[in-house]
Amino acid sequence: MESILQVDNLEVCFRTAHGEVPAVRGASFSVRPGEVLSIVGESGSGKSVTSLSLMGLLPESARAMGSVRFDDRDLLRLNGEEMRELRGNGISMIFQEPMTSLNPVFTVGFQLMEPLRIHRDQSKKEAYREAVRLLEQVEIPEAKKRMEQFPHELSGGMRQRVMIAIALACRPKLLIADEPTTALDVTIQAQILDLIVDLKDRTGMGVILITHDMGVVAETADRVLVMYAGRVVEAAGVETLFHEPKHPYTQGLLQSVPNVDDSLYPLNSIPGYMPKPGEIQRGCPFHPRCREAVEKCRDHHPPSFAFGTEHVASCWLGEEEGEAHGGSSAG
Ligand code: SF4
Ligand code: MG
Repeated sequence: MESILQVDNLEVCFRTAHGEVPAVRGASFSVRPGEVLSIVGESGSGKSVTSLSLMGLLPESARAMGSVRFDDRDLLRLNGEEMRELRGNGISMIFQEPMTSLNPVFTVGFQLMEPLRIHRDQSKKEAYREAVRLLEQVEIPEAKKRMEQFPHELSGGMRQRVMIAIALACRPKLLIADEPTTALDVTIQAQILDLIVDLKDRTGMGVILITHDMGVVAETADRVLVMYAGRVVEAAGVETLFHEPKHPYTQGLLQSVPNVDDSLYPLNSIPGYMPKPGEIQRGCPFHPRCREAVEKCRDHHPPSFAFGTEHVASCWLGEEEGEAHGGSSAG
């Protein structure tokens, strides 16, 4: 199936007082219509920076290279105006804390109608009707009453639903959701994730869902990218990733998923810490934490190896079983 988004060899660097610091290193992946691609990793792994670069939302100090194809255009080459147009009309993004993206001084209705009037040229009356319909689509009860309310009058879960409604207003082909449920309690979290998956099925949009939580991945993803220290270290379909993870980091993440039957036992987290961007790295960036590291891991960065279709991992352990796969990245 044709991809909506095709990312090749994405590199993002930040200018700092100590020179250029790489945050994303050679990430390649694609997103197809009607699928959830989950990008998973610890904080600082480069997953949020990756999504911000797709949206043209990187800070001034950052520089992105490589190519990001969407709708026959390279997003890394659009100017500010073209990128703003695209954000209203093709790609939408939702964030962790809707309170920071919703404007506290405007009603829910106003914030929903605004993009409809600007990007879809609707009259006030049309926009009102469409806004109510969008609130209903994200399963907000008493939609007309909500139109008149301000963000602080809504619960966290309701605010996130409003954000999703706003994101849907421009009928995106691609929705990027960065930790959309992290701030919510588990029950609401599950409802919001269900909603996103359901809307994706109904509209055929592609979704990039960024998370540090393997439980969220299991609930939502069709395919998964695992990022570590700015690189994609493993990519696979969700079933494959959970049943036959190849990279020791992925294996560690899976072991740190709480066992629902064993809620009394603490999580098994991976000891050690991820190298910070700019820290000098030799060899495999995971080697100081890796229980399976062998001699050459210390000096030689592992290339990517492919295991059947759509499964790649960047780890020396795959050298015998896997097939050399171009580049140092996966997807
Ligand atoms: Fe561990 Fe070596 Fe694989 Fe890196 S390349 S994950 S250090 S076994
Ligand atoms: Mg983040």
